Amino acid sequence: MDHKYYKILIEKKIDKLIDDDELLMLNKHLETCEECRNDLKEVEEMEKLIKMHRYRSPEDKIWTEYKGGFYAKIERGIGWIFFSIGIIVLLISGMFYFIRDFLLDSSVSLILRFGISALIIGFIILLVSIIRERVFFNKRERYKEVKR
Ligand SMILES: [Zn+2]
Repeated sequence: MDHKYYKILIEKKIDKLIDDDELLMLNKHLETCEECRNDLKEVEEMEKLIKMHRYRSPEDKIWTEYKGGFYAKIERGIGWIFFSIGIIVLLISGMFYFIRDFLLDSSVSLILRFGISALIIGFIILLVSIIRERVFFNKRERYKEVKR
């Protein structure tokens, strides 16, 4: 028997272009021919791998995007840490100089010291409130994204 013909039938079977008569002939030949049986197995395995790869592709894309987001988050996290350290250092040293050179300076009038202190305290409270609202807002936005 001519194997070449059955090789073509195997290709047709994989591509699902084989008709019933051809399939019957092929199956009959496969019963007696190990070479073609192995061929079919190989081609089927190959086809499975290709399908698996096609199936995995969208997941790979999501994974890549996830990793990108992950690095962006780390970067932003490090940025925020340095930013916070800077703010804390500035606030503490600012507070120290403010108390030493302004609040405890008896040459500055008491009303001016009281007024400036109230102004700064008010400003800090407003700042904290705005930042807190901003953080809360961001969290809610992120939650919305997840829900979608
Ligand atoms: Zn054969």
